[in-house]
Amino acid sequence: MIVARNLCQRYPRADGSGSLSVLEGVDLKLDAGEIVVILGPSGSGKTTLLGLLAGLDQPTEGSVELAGVELGSLSEDERASFRAANVGFVFQNFQLIPTLTAEENVCVPLELLPEDRAPDAAEAMRRAELLLARVGLGDRMDHFPTQLSGGEQQRVGLARAFAAEPRILFADEPTGNLDRETGERVADLLFELNREAGTTLVIVTHDMALAERAGRVVRIDAGRIQTDAP
Ligand code: ADP
Ligand code: MG
Repeated sequence: MIVARNLCQRYPRADGSGSLSVLEGVDLKLDAGEIVVILGPSGSGKTTLLGLLAGLDQPTEGSVELAGVELGSLSEDERASFRAANVGFVFQNFQLIPTLTAEENVCVPLELLPEDRAPDAAEAMRRAELLLARVGLGDRMDHFPTQLSGGEQQRVGLARAFAAEPRILFADEPTGNLDRETGERVADLLFELNREAGTTLVIVTHDMALAERAGRVVRIDAGRIQTDAP
């Protein structure tokens, strides 16, 4: 389902003195329906890796194949359409649209679906309401992001990532802003999605309770995979 080969990411240094190497030759293979947790210290390249695997960014070197499609062979527009149809992403910093309510934010991915899969507006709202209720925000549907706590925004981001029923879901520290109980509920929801729909899950976390529930843990440090084990 996911094949990453020799992924390298380098950024030019602000002072012009060469480049900063953030990922150095990451190889990773994931089967459909697999759950993998990525662990690593802050700054080790976890968010960068997730962005490359999801096709949000392009690597300096190496390649990513998602559901049989080589992302590097697509144009930017084609990549966006491919993501809309196949990929869900929970951002570490939420990235909700500030001018839209919680419910409208959750509807956004549904509007980006190909025509034959896009629900009408009423059905989209029904789905958004159901998802927001599932993340415990049934009474916050009409709130704008500034009217929500960090943990609530994180859960809106989660509902949004689920909305289009993606085959692959990437979640960047999805329980990072939640208390233990809410975090457990969010983790339950991720695992339910995997069980019910066979969604492939790639989860970056510091949450050891969450890591222990995954079938596979990849440890990353200084841009390299250190260990990859059950
Ligand atoms: P993590 O998610 O593991 O904390 P990140 O992937 O966010 O780590 O970042 C890894 C390193 O790459 C950090 O040192 C960060 O400062 C650097 N970095 C990330 N994005 C950029 C960018 N766009 N330009 C320059 N450096 C970046
Ligand atoms: Mg990060």
